[in-house]
Parts: sequence; C-alpha cells; structure tokens
Amino acid sequence: MSRYDVLIVGAGLGGLECAYILAKKGLSVCVVEKETQVGGCLQMFRRRGHAFDTGFHYVGGLGDGEPLGRLFSYFGLTELPWVRMEAEAFDEVTIKGRQYLYANGFDNFASRMADYFPRQRDALRRYVRTLKEVYDNIEHSFDPRSAEDVYTQSAFARPAYGFLKEVLADDEAIDAVSGASLKMELDPETLPLYIFAQINASFISSAWRLRGGGGQICEHLADSVRRMGGTVMTGCGAAAFIAGNDRLSAVRLTNGELIEAGWFISGIHPAATMRLLDGCPLIRRVYRNRITRMENTTGMFTVNCEMQEEAVPYFNRNRYIYETSDIWKLCRRAAGAPVEGVMVSCQPPEDGTPFTRNIDILTTMPWAEVEQWAGTRPMKRGEDYEEMKRGRAEECLAFAERYMPGLRDAVKHIYTSTPLTYADYTATADGSAYGIKKDCNNLMYTLLTPRTPISNLLLTGQNLNLHGILGVSMTSFMTCAWITGPVNPFKE
Ligand SMILES: Cc1cc2nc3c(=O)[nH]c(=O)nc-3n(C[C@H](O)[C@H](O)[C@H](O)COP(=O)(O)OP(=O)(O)OC[C@H]3O[C@@H](n4cnc5c(N)ncnc54)[C@H](O)[C@@H]3O)c2cc1C
Repeated sequence: MSRYDVLIVGAGLGGLECAYILAKKGLSVCVVEKETQVGGCLQMFRRRGHAFDTGFHYVGGLGDGEPLGRLFSYFGLTELPWVRMEAEAFDEVTIKGRQYLYANGFDNFASRMADYFPRQRDALRRYVRTLKEVYDNIEHSFDPRSAEDVYTQSAFARPAYGFLKEVLADDEAIDAVSGASLKMELDPETLPLYIFAQINASFISSAWRLRGGGGQICEHLADSVRRMGGTVMTGCGAAAFIAGNDRLSAVRLTNGELIEAGWFISGIHPAATMRLLDGCPLIRRVYRNRITRMENTTGMFTVNCEMQEEAVPYFNRNRYIYETSDIWKLCRRAAGAPVEGVMVSCQPPEDGTPFTRNIDILTTMPWAEVEQWAGTRPMKRGEDYEEMKRGRAEECLAFAERYMPGLRDAVKHIYTSTPLTYADYTATADGSAYGIKKDCNNLMYTLLTPRTPISNLLLTGQNLNLHGILGVSMTSFMTCAWITGPVNPFKE
C-alpha cells in the first residue's frame, strides 16, 4: 500500500493547483482522477483529429502584476501561448439589436459605456470603482484568517442586482454592463456582488485566450507536479474514503487499491464527496444532508463547431447575443423554452492563417431538460436524446446565424454537450456549470470553507467561494493554507 502526505481526489484545476502548491512546499502528493485525462471542466476532446475545448474560452487579469498573472506565474502557467484579446472590444454584447463593446481598463470601460448612456457617466464611474475595490482586495484573500473576512464582507452579503439598481438606475444600462452573463448565473435575488464584481473586474482588467486550447493548463500543471516528484494517476477514481479512529486514513480506488495519507483534499463536487463518505461514522447526517441538498447553478449546452478551412476570419472577441432584455432571468429559463441568448467564442488559429477552425456556441440549459436521461451512459442515451441535442444545436446555429451571416455554411462538423455530459465526465451535481449556487442572503449555508467536520479532510474547487479559473486558483491557496500555513503567491 502506498502512503503520501496528501491525497487529492480529482485532477481538475483545483485539485492540480493544490498538488502543485503542496509539492512545491516539499510534501509528497498523489492526485487520483477517474477520467483518462486531467482537466475536469478544462479538458479537451478530439473528434476526427480535431481538438475542442469544453469549459474554457477566456480568462481575465493575466497581465503582468494583475492577480491571475501573479497566480499563474507562481504555477509556471504564464509561459503558455496566451493571446491578448482586443483591448477596445474583448466582449461584444448585443441586446435586442443594440450593440455594446467592452473595453479594457476601468476608466476606459466606464467612458466607453458612457458613450451609450451619457446620462449615466457618473454612475458608471461609481460602478467601476466598486468593481475595482473588490478586485484590489484579492491580495488579502490568501491568509485563511483574513480570507474569511474577505468572503463575508459586505460585497459578498450584498445582491449584485440590488447594487446595480442602486448605482445605475437605468434598466438598459444594467443589462448592458451585465451582458457577458454566461460566465456566471445572473440570479437577481441571490448572486453576491462579490462574484459579479470579481469576475467582471478581472476581464475589464485584461482578457486572454489560449492558443491550442484550455486543456494545456491542467496538462502543464500535472507535468509540473510529476517533475516535483508528485504522482498524478488517471483512469482510476476514488471509490471511498476509509475512516480511522477520529480521522480519515486512506482512500480506496475504483480498482480496489488503497492509498494512505495524512491529509485528504477533495476537488470534486461536495455532494460527490459525501458519496465517498457513505457509512462513514465521522460525518453526521445533518452535515451530509446539508451538503447534498445545496442548490446548484444552471447547466450549459455547448455546440462545438469545426469550421471549414479559410472560411471564417478569426475574431479576437467574444460575442454575447440576446433576443431578450431579461438577461437577469435567463438562468430561470424553463426546460424546453426557446433559446434567448448565446455566447459565441472562437479559438486563435494554429495553422498560421487568419481564419479560425473552432467556434463554440453556448447557451444555458437547465438540468430538467435532460433529467429524463440521467442514469444512461454516454453514447448510449437513445435516439430521443440525440434528437433533442440536434434540435437545440440547430436552434443555436440559427440564432447565431442571424447575427453572423454565412456561419452555418462554414460549419464542417458539430459536436454537442449538455449538463448530462458534465454530470458524467466531472461528477458535477445536476450537470451544473459553475457548481454550488451562492446566495448573498444565506452565506452561512451556501458558502463552504475548505474545512469539513473531519479534521484531515479539506475541500477545494469551484464549489467553495468562487468559480472560474481565477476563483478556483484563489481557493486552492486557501485550501492548502490549512495544511502548510498561509501561502501568499503575491509575496513568493
Ligand atoms: C461550459 C463552461 C465554460 C466555462 N468557461 C470558462 C472560461 O472561459 N473561463 C473561466 O475562467 N472559467 C470557465 N468555466 C469555469 C471553469 O472551467 C471551472 O470553474 C473550473 O475549471 C472548475 O475546476 P474544479 O477543479 O473546481 O472542478 P472540475 O473541473 O469539475 O474538476 C473535478 C475533477 O474531479 C474528477 N472527479 C470527479 N469524481 C471523482 C472521483 N470519484 N475520483 C477521482 N476523480 C474524480 C473529475 O473527473 C474532474 O476531473 C467554464 C465552465 C463551463 C462548464
């Protein structure tokens, strides 16, 4: 039986970053991943020799001295082939035919938006000032003691929508600044201002794509962990945590192997973590019930399009298109309701031409729309499921085509994924895109800290405080701090 200082379940971004931090501190680490490749939401897939991204399109704040830039420099990830997006239009938001361009730079963003809403000029300045305050505070979140203050501070307990109503007082301007919404679930009642501000601020700071796809992030991390002496095992999931007297002693893998460790980190959905603790006397039923009943954010439907060669010029911005002005209600879209908003993104060319070969179209999809097929296996879900996916893909393509004429003719092949795909490949509850839903009115019950009632079991990943690459990276440091003491990447 092998033994490590720390055993980590899940080789998604959170699990691998924890492994990197701990290995760098000299601890022996082992990461176990149930899939054959690392990456979780950031993994890529290959069809007919062509590679596609799953849950990656762009990141924010990766420039020199910016928060993600400093974190990724700690992880050695700044050396990947990042491509800076258009500084004056990294996102193009179209709402019922009116177009708004998002520009980098807080003052620049406010002044560009004020061109569309001249009467809101001062309000827009106040808006970006709040975003920047939250963003500038990121540095303080790397000490577990002050981190908990950061997360319970007023921006977390305040509804984002309420803040926008207070500051902007113009519904069209509110929609315009919320238009890159598919990066989070815009629930007017529950979404904390902190999440809205942290995510939007990071992209306003600077926006980046990755040539060759997001899969490189986790592959690079896994290689680095191995180089530092750590173990990353794929194709072999955790089946159960094994309890000792008052703490965990080992993990049993799906192949029956036992791995002992002093500490355990779970980088998978907390409800799936509870399944690994079935029958464990160290967890009380009340905690287990609380965790398994937590509400999850909505799922996503993605159409990955392989484009014909030299057919669509590469566009260095994302397009968010809505045919409704209720973008703060899109997350509540009923199962089967028509598509009302999409994000269209593309990958930087790799063949030296100015044309893109990959375009992704994303829209929200509630779990209820696929629930009837839960329990079926990928590729064997039946013709009715395939038909539902074909219908939705057609609808998304037709939607995008209205704003990007000629798009459909340029598509060579399409591949689709639904919340069921995520539920199967990453064990995410309800196929949720962004994990557990945080509720600013109920932080006590919706914001998990890395600690659990078991003293040597910690949690990490997007289900804790923040989702997205920046959020997950911040949380990885918070998790590891409970093992090594504070690690401040801004100071190392
Ligand atoms: C469609 C979509 C688009 C997105 N786009 C962006 C974007 O452009 N920019 C951005 O910043 N963020 C984006 N995100 C969010 C980002 O991808 C996630 O927040 C982040 O990757 C989550 O990482 P994680 O480590 O928390 O979880 P995961 O990626 O879910 O990793 C968990 C890992 O655990 C493994 N696992 C599960 N159960 C077991 C088990 N029993 N044993 C072993 N392993 C197990 C899974 O297979 C998986 O590899 C997107 C997400 C989605 C869904």
